[in-house]
Amino acid sequence: MIERERIQELNDEAVDEGGDYVLYWMQQSQRERSNPALECAARWANRLGKPLVVAFCLIADYPDANRRHFAFMLEGLAETARRLEKRGASFIVRLGSPPELITELAESATLLVCDRGYLRHQVAWRNELRKSVAKRILQVEGDVIVPIECASDKREWAARTIRKKINSRVDDFVRGLSATSLNVAARGLAVRGDLDLARWPEVLDKLDVNDDVEAVDRFTPGTEAAHAKLTGFLRSGLVGYADNRNDPADSKASELSPYLHFGQISPVEIALKVKRAKGPSTADKDAFLEELIVRRELACNFVYFTPDYDSYQTLPDWAQRTLQDHKSDDRPKLYTRRQLENANTDDPYWNAAMQEMLRTGYMHNQMRMYWGKKIIEWTNTPRYAYSTALYLNNKYFLDGRDPNSYASVGWLFGLHDQAWAERPIFGKVRYMNAGGLERKFKIDRYVRWVNTLA
Ligand SMILES: Cc1cc2nc3c(=O)[nH]c(=O)nc-3n(C[C@H](O)[C@H](O)[C@H](O)COP(=O)(O)OP(=O)(O)OC[C@H]3O[C@@H](n4cnc5c(N)ncnc54)[C@H](O)[C@@H]3O)c2cc1C
Repeated sequence: MIERERIQELNDEAVDEGGDYVLYWMQQSQRERSNPALECAARWANRLGKPLVVAFCLIADYPDANRRHFAFMLEGLAETARRLEKRGASFIVRLGSPPELITELAESATLLVCDRGYLRHQVAWRNELRKSVAKRILQVEGDVIVPIECASDKREWAARTIRKKINSRVDDFVRGLSATSLNVAARGLAVRGDLDLARWPEVLDKLDVNDDVEAVDRFTPGTEAAHAKLTGFLRSGLVGYADNRNDPADSKASELSPYLHFGQISPVEIALKVKRAKGPSTADKDAFLEELIVRRELACNFVYFTPDYDSYQTLPDWAQRTLQDHKSDDRPKLYTRRQLENANTDDPYWNAAMQEMLRTGYMHNQMRMYWGKKIIEWTNTPRYAYSTALYLNNKYFLDGRDPNSYASVGWLFGLHDQAWAERPIFGKVRYMNAGGLERKFKIDRYVRWVNTLA
């Protein structure tokens, strides 16, 4: 089912029953499976006796995106295209800005359905469509479990302040979603796209995208691969997740974050499968759902209620004050951004983490924390540390440029955290050191493993 709270009417225009098709503008939820916006559009198509057109707008200069991100996205979309066409919908990809292209396509549509995203440009596109499309627009949330406004009506301080609010609503939203068969095939429609994703590598080569970062092969893109990862995780990662999830040398992590970022898998489907898994303890399931739901959706809450979510000014006052008090403290080591980006420090653990990021587009959560805290220690001002961490995060991680990116980089500087004992450079902001990694984990093993990566 599609819960009522997932659907918002973005305008009060009427449904145009004379239109040729129902239009779904796919942007955030880049999947055919378990996608509430798609199912909402499919049900409208059947109700009106119309075919369904799914449109995707490809933007070569998408904010902060580079070849690594585009390769992952396009291969995933090629699978989505195949699946949609099999269902009888038409999937078209056009090159250009969503407000313009979707406004044009909406002229022949009965109504427009879109999915939902929280980043600045995603919100702006939908607001522009509100003004330019004279057909009914429905926005359907499919990439968080509890829709943001149902969880809270304000920016939350921390996981502890949002946890109860989210958890009290989770059961209302963790429900299966069945696929709607389409009654009218879209084959005969004249509407066409500019690009053929069946040949996505050629499309990528022709696109004028930022080529600074190459594609990676650690993650096979797409919904099928996402579900294969999930199956593997349910089989061998979830048991013991509660006790061992922090260990980068023997990772229990699901590695689902790139798929979640590109909307190639539904968080609801993940939660359903985790809840139903036989074998893992309740503690393991709860620990994972805390990350998937509470922490991840706290990040969406932050971005939604903080228009300048990518700015140092959004850090809590106490954190800014204490970092300012320690701004002139001696830094025993200073590295340039270039040295950091080249994984060229005196710290083998940090270099390994940076190498994992450069070579694979991913890093274990424990190493992300250590990696970011060291950037604070090794750069000349907290502001520069903040911009450096965000720059590297969004350039190299496949899951970068996500609400989680902004909330997590903020966390390095005290966001969603508490004050700790005061110390040099960090003030009252939480500090991490190599000794912690050595004490708790077989960290040399992690370094050796990274060295084996191509
Ligand atoms: C400095 C720093 C930068 C980070 N940058 C990003 C980023 O750009 N994109 C991103 O998605 N995550 C980011 N994270 C959060 C977290 O590290 C990753 O989500 C997680 O490591 C992804 O791996 P996984 O899917 O194997 O996690 P799992 O442990 O398997 O968790 C499952 C899912 O829960 C969510 N999750 C897990 N840990 C966290 C967390 N600490 N905060 C919020 N959600 C979480 C993610 O969606 C993740 O995919 C960052 C954390 C830090 C400390």
